[in-house]
Amino acid sequence: MSHRPTIGVFALQGDVREHLRMLDSVGARAIGVRRPAELEACDGLVIPGGESTTMSKLARTFDLFEPLRQRIKDGLPVFGTCAGMIMLADRVEDGTADQETLGGLDITVRRNAFGRQVDSFEGDIDFVGLEGTVHAVFIRAPWVEEVGPGVEVLARVGGGQAAGTIVAVRQGPLVATSFHPEVDDDARIHRLFVDRVVSTRTH
Ligand code: GLN
Repeated sequence: MSHRPTIGVFALQGDVREHLRMLDSVGARAIGVRRPAELEACDGLVIPGGESTTMSKLARTFDLFEPLRQRIKDGLPVFGTCAGMIMLADRVEDGTADQETLGGLDITVRRNAFGRQVDSFEGDIDFVGLEGTVHAVFIRAPWVEEVGPGVEVLARVGGGQAAGTIVAVRQGPLVATSFHPEVDDDARIHRLFVDRVVSTRTH
């Protein structure tokens, strides 16, 4: 087994390049995933920000939807950011009528939840497992309305109108953030994910 884990980035849509760069910077072998064979090579997967409805449709079109669901069922570690969080959620509010998600996280997310007043905002938040704060960038972001009993809350909005809102969660090998940790120079959340992939890898 090579020491360097292979982490895929779902690459049919979304801000793929930023995640590849981040993953590379924390020592992973980062590859874009567009086909089932590429998914098979992965020890872990990132689903980026973008547009969750488009992602689902493209995943269906490119025969990636069911393989993704199966790998998640089999315990693949996945990190979803923004639209990626929606993709991992079992339940979506304000989705389109035909919106499908991969699921796996026992959470209800509300799409574009912060976007009613402003499309995007930034703020410093505490994040479980990290020293100091994380600078979080929200872009037409979902928030987490409800979590099941097996879900650990990793971060909440610190202040302002949305204070206390859940914006990062973990459940087993699945982790998701409403914000975009790939747009800054701070790679700590990617490092946490990659470290966890390495420590749980079985092959
Ligand atoms: N609003 C988008 C969606 O519903 C998510 C936005 C983002 O990923 N920056 O998929």
